[in-house]
Amino acid sequence: MKVAVVGIGVAGAYLMNQLSDMHDVRVTGFERMPEDQHDAVCAWATCENVMAGLAKNCGLNFDDYVLHDGKRMRVDVGSDGSDYVDLKLKGMVSYDKLKLIQDMVKGTEIRFGRAPGKEELEPDFDLIIDATGFHRNYLPKLQNELWIPCVQYKVKYERGQEPFDDFYLKAFPSMTGYFWYFPLGNGYAHVGAGDFSKAHNQFVDEFMKRHPGTALKKVGRPVRITPPASCEPFTDGRKTVGVGESIGTVFALLGEGIIPSTWCADLFVRNMHDLAAYRQAVLKKFEIYSTVFRFVQLKIQGRFSMIKNAPDMIKIYNHMKGEEDRYGMAVRMADMLKVAKL
Ligand SMILES: Cc1cc2nc3c(=O)[nH]c(=O)nc-3n(C[C@H](O)[C@H](O)[C@H](O)COP(=O)(O)OP(=O)(O)OC[C@H]3O[C@@H](n4cnc5c(N)ncnc54)[C@H](O)[C@@H]3O)c2cc1C
Repeated sequence: MKVAVVGIGVAGAYLMNQLSDMHDVRVTGFERMPEDQHDAVCAWATCENVMAGLAKNCGLNFDDYVLHDGKRMRVDVGSDGSDYVDLKLKGMVSYDKLKLIQDMVKGTEIRFGRAPGKEELEPDFDLIIDATGFHRNYLPKLQNELWIPCVQYKVKYERGQEPFDDFYLKAFPSMTGYFWYFPLGNGYAHVGAGDFSKAHNQFVDEFMKRHPGTALKKVGRPVRITPPASCEPFTDGRKTVGVGESIGTVFALLGEGIIPSTWCADLFVRNMHDLAAYRQAVLKKFEIYSTVFRFVQLKIQGRFSMIKNAPDMIKIYNHMKGEEDRYGMAVRMADMLKVAKL
């Protein structure tokens, strides 16, 4: 079977690694960026408890990629810094996402600097995987989807000038988004924000003025938060199937897509000969994402009611509480309520 993986992000890289080992599959990757400009646009925060297993599946040791091991995360929920949540972290780290992607695809066949059209791929491949993330270039366009525009700097601070020594977030009113400061070790940090109300650029610029460091890189890209159940179809009905953020595998409350998109790639590997089973597996695995998305959407629209929507909130709390190790943080109802009141 000849397979094309289009898009070499976390999902595409995992697929390249796993499919390359299969004796009955010949896999070719395509990445629109040239190899020397290939990047992993993202804040690089994840949970090592889960990533360790996924990296191990690829013969890699996740510890080798960890840049900063988080202990606590302050989440400001007010305007003047007096109201905040102090989260105890249990495995949240920042890691070298690009290096892990590069190591996952080592020895596989990838054509960089190429964004081939579907008509170019269809005659040559039995299966085309759309792992293009937000772009979803090869699948039918979605109606009424929700995405959050983001901007991010990679900054280098002089020793002792770092604004924070651990993970920091500032939640925006009505949960339209948040500002993040994620340490990358040795004075480096990702400083960024995403905001549905589009105040992210101004907020980040003001922060950069207050805490001047050397801005090494500026990137911008939206993140899709519409969940898988609302990102159907996962296929074009011909040869193309979506994997990762292209089909909505992002946990909307956190804008977290690394683990879910890699999980999605893993589900594909397990079900690649039965796409109906793949669809079912994705819908089941990410079922709670629809509830989380509805919660975030109601907050953004100012339609959230603490009484009417309490069942959803409790459901999300129970889910996260039961999977603290997966989310890499201690989850408390009092914190959840503070965020919900934003
Ligand atoms: C600013 C920002 C910060 C984020 N921070 C975090 C975080 O800290 N932690 C977390 O868990 N999640 C984070 N996310 C979300 C996370 O990055 C994504 O959800 C996740 O990377 C999706 O993985 P993917 O492999 O599906 O797609 P992507 O990682 O987006 O990869 C898609 C790849 O496809 C390529 N591509 C696109 N179109 C084409 C084409 N036509 N042909 C060929 N190649 C193409 C792209 O160049 C890219 O390499 C962040 C998102 C943003 C925007």
